[in-house]
Amino acid sequence: MKNDNGIQRRSLMLGAGLSAFAAPAVLTGLSSGAARAQESEAMPVSDGPKSESFSLGNFKILVVEDGSRVMDNPGETFGTGQDPETVSALLEKNFLPADRMVNGFAPVLVDTGDATILFDTGMGAAGRSWGAGRLVEGLRANGYQPEDIDVVVITHMHGDHIMGLMEDGAPTYPNARYVFGDKEYAFWSDEARMGTPAEGGHESVKKLITPLAEKATFINGGDSVAPGIEAMEAFGHTPGHLIFMLESNGEQLVLTADTANHYVLSLQRPDWHVRFDMDPEAAAKSRRAVFDMIAAERLPFIGYHMPFPSVGYVEKSGDGYVFMPKTYQFRL
Ligand SMILES: [Zn+2]
Repeated sequence: MKNDNGIQRRSLMLGAGLSAFAAPAVLTGLSSGAARAQESEAMPVSDGPKSESFSLGNFKILVVEDGSRVMDNPGETFGTGQDPETVSALLEKNFLPADRMVNGFAPVLVDTGDATILFDTGMGAAGRSWGAGRLVEGLRANGYQPEDIDVVVITHMHGDHIMGLMEDGAPTYPNARYVFGDKEYAFWSDEARMGTPAEGGHESVKKLITPLAEKATFINGGDSVAPGIEAMEAFGHTPGHLIFMLESNGEQLVLTADTANHYVLSLQRPDWHVRFDMDPEAAAKSRRAVFDMIAAERLPFIGYHMPFPSVGYVEKSGDGYVFMPKTYQFRL
């Protein structure tokens, strides 16, 4: 009943309420909040942030949209060093605006039946002022309380992945143990980062990761988090960036974390340098290795910054890959 009414009212709202001017603004956190407030008058039930769940063998996978932000001038982040016209042309060819983009954050919960494992933690309180930091709300909406999380795995130690580890100075997931990348932690926790561009990251890691270190296992590529969940190295985005191969009952899926961060610019042009990649050459090499494997083996993957629900496949095309979002494959 809720769905029927919701859909009906939503389409009425879209038809009557939103002008051509409002439509692009719906992509921004602020305006979608406003749109949600309007809808909520008609729809009293809060559904939490966007989320998507599906099965992979015996695993239950839940993707939650912690938040998203609009960024200006995609070419200044993706395709640095390229002619801006070349970047714009590729975006426009893919039906995307050249001057703005949306970047979302998609932490993933894997319920193996034996353990409830969370991969990355979103923006936490630091993102609330602009509509992010909604992971816990999304977990609750799907029946998981923070106390239920057994293991928190951090793919790498950039803010959008670790800020949600603490809430008001205390661990957000009070019963969890932690899995951190050994090389990643060694890099960020090193005092040698002081006075370098990584100083801010170093301070965050000291505040958010170091206090949890005694409850953590430090892993490297090839190590397992739990049966059917194995870490693989995909260095470059950060010095110890890890991705994870999930396998249950013969089905596989790769959590690619930040190996590719734009579904067009990073996948169709994997060699283009990205401002967020700390070692752009190594990151491009990792992108090729990971997505060559995913394409060749026809594996599904979840990318933390792919368009929500952030699940899809790639096909090799020319010198890169074309992203194909998940539709109904996992329901049949
Ligand atoms: Zn990220």
